[in-house]
Amino acid sequence: MPRIEYNGKTISYEVIFTQRKTVEIRVYPDNRVVVKAPPHTSQAYIRGLISQRAEWILKNHTHLATYAPPSVKYIAGEKHQYLGESYPIDIRQAPGKHASARLEDGRFIILVPDMNNIKRIKRALDRWYRQQAYTLFAEMIPQAVQRFNGMPLPEFEWDTRIFNGRWGSCGHDRKIMLNVYLIRLDKSLIEYVIVHELCHLFEMNHSPKYYALLEKVMPDYKARRKALKGYRLR
Ligand SMILES: [Zn+2]
Repeated sequence: MPRIEYNGKTISYEVIFTQRKTVEIRVYPDNRVVVKAPPHTSQAYIRGLISQRAEWILKNHTHLATYAPPSVKYIAGEKHQYLGESYPIDIRQAPGKHASARLEDGRFIILVPDMNNIKRIKRALDRWYRQQAYTLFAEMIPQAVQRFNGMPLPEFEWDTRIFNGRWGSCGHDRKIMLNVYLIRLDKSLIEYVIVHELCHLFEMNHSPKYYALLEKVMPDYKARRKALKGYRLR
């Protein structure tokens, strides 16, 4: 898939050639950027258009997290987030073969058979994050649904996963995916992402109609969105 770099962010896009006179760029809620262009439009021309509209594309990508260089080392004392707070990690030799992580007395205690195995340390912490995320989102989603004040929501499914570059998505199959790493953020921001995705069940785009609904169910969404943009997904 072709891509461009803009302000440290990558925009990947799909090009579909169809019988039409003008080029159209659309941003879907699952972050796909689709360009529909007349046959024989050059890739360079499309690239130029994407660059010109990069600001707009990124603005429409509220799911997109800020790109951050891979700076996480998983070494003792390094701080990791949970619900908006930072806690240092404390890596200890596990007595058995199994790795585990827990939050205790203001630190993450990570038990691993081999203290030099960074991948194992990361996996143990990620597993803990995933469990916390699933439990919390399962509580928060029904609460977020109540904001719709009786508006009947289409049936949907949800799940969590770790994915790069975005906090959440809502597909045409009405499946909402929430990034496990949301669990690192303040609850008000998690709630924003959940409500943002729920609104996509009604409007599969970021049209004025979509934002009118979002504002209705979450009047302070702009402040939350702004705060979310200050966070880096790593
Ligand atoms: Zn969206």
